[in-house]
Amino acid sequence: MYRRYYLEHHDDNVQQCRECGGPIATCGHAERLWFPQRTVCYATMARAAAQRDYDALAETYGGWHDGTFENWAKERDEAHPFAHDDGVTIWVSEHDLTPEANWLSRAPAPKPEED
Ligand SMILES: [Zn+2]
Repeated sequence: MYRRYYLEHHDDNVQQCRECGGPIATCGHAERLWFPQRTVCYATMARAAAQRDYDALAETYGGWHDGTFENWAKERDEAHPFAHDDGVTIWVSEHDLTPEANWLSRAPAPKPEED
């Protein structure tokens, strides 16, 4: 049983390019021309831009917070043990699921922590 499965699938694996995943019979020819292509995922583009905005915002605030995302500090200390991206996942939706949220572009800059 195993031997039969191995023989049936071994050829496929040997002929599959480990780099591009395509058949080696196709991508293994040096004379073949390949034309660069581009696909765009606007959801991924929006998510990446939001992540970059969030990183920049966190850098402005100091980078470390107290868990409320309201009080920030430039250095990690007992009161600000969390990095801006600890436990944070930036993602996108086709719908504005939290129109009242202002954690990113609409957020007023939090007051700097008093010493
Ligand atoms: Zn290949």
